[in-house]
Amino acid sequence: MPRVPVKLVSWDEIVEWSRGLAKRIKESGYRPSVIIAVARGGYVPARLLCDFLGVENLLSIQSQHWTEAAKAAERAVLKFPYKVDLKGHRALLVDDIVDTGETLLLARDYILREWRPDELKIAALQWISTVAKFKPDYYYIEVKEWKWFQYPWTRLEDVTQFIKRMIAETFKETGKEKWSYKEILESFREWYGVEVEEFYYRDALEMLVEQGFLEKCGEEEYCLKEKPQQ
Ligand code: AMP
Repeated sequence: MPRVPVKLVSWDEIVEWSRGLAKRIKESGYRPSVIIAVARGGYVPARLLCDFLGVENLLSIQSQHWTEAAKAAERAVLKFPYKVDLKGHRALLVDDIVDTGETLLLARDYILREWRPDELKIAALQWISTVAKFKPDYYYIEVKEWKWFQYPWTRLEDVTQFIKRMIAETFKETGKEKWSYKEILESFREWYGVEVEEFYYRDALEMLVEQGFLEKCGEEEYCLKEKPQQ
């Protein structure tokens, strides 16, 4: 059993889900005149919805809750708030997933108050119905069992954090400081139950070396440089 349940999502699935979501929006009769992507997770779905719904106007707002893969910050914050007049527009606010729902609720309240569109509806590719604080107007997949959906646009970021967490936790549990590349790959599979293309592990390790968390200490070996508190 993996320690963190992860589902790897492919680019093809993203296109299929976005198209399915667009179909539901169309069938409901809602015709948005502007789409608002929640940065950063909503960018790709929002752009695809523009394509599938034939919408030209695309803006974004950055609302952030989860700063690390599978680790939520205490509360969502709105980064770079700005004002724009959406009077006369029917807006569609888009994100990848509604987990707790806090990211979207914060963005929605701000937009309604400061941008004042005539109408605002919310769409997400996925909705975790068992934990979310609200149900989006449109979603494509209802998730009942919580997982971390590893979307293709955060693959390197997530793999980097996952490796970092695995090495830090193992150090705390066993004192292990030195890892071979092969061990990292094997443990990664065990911890997260997924495998990614080889270059992601290489790039992630390079990032962790750059960040000063690891250092190379042999041909294919990595040692902990920044020791986590035991
Ligand atoms: P929340 O505010 O809890 O609804 O979290 C929303 C944002 O965090 C989403 O836009 C995602 O980018 C990210 N996120 C939260 N939970 C997950 C999850 N289970 N899988 C993938 N991404 C997630």
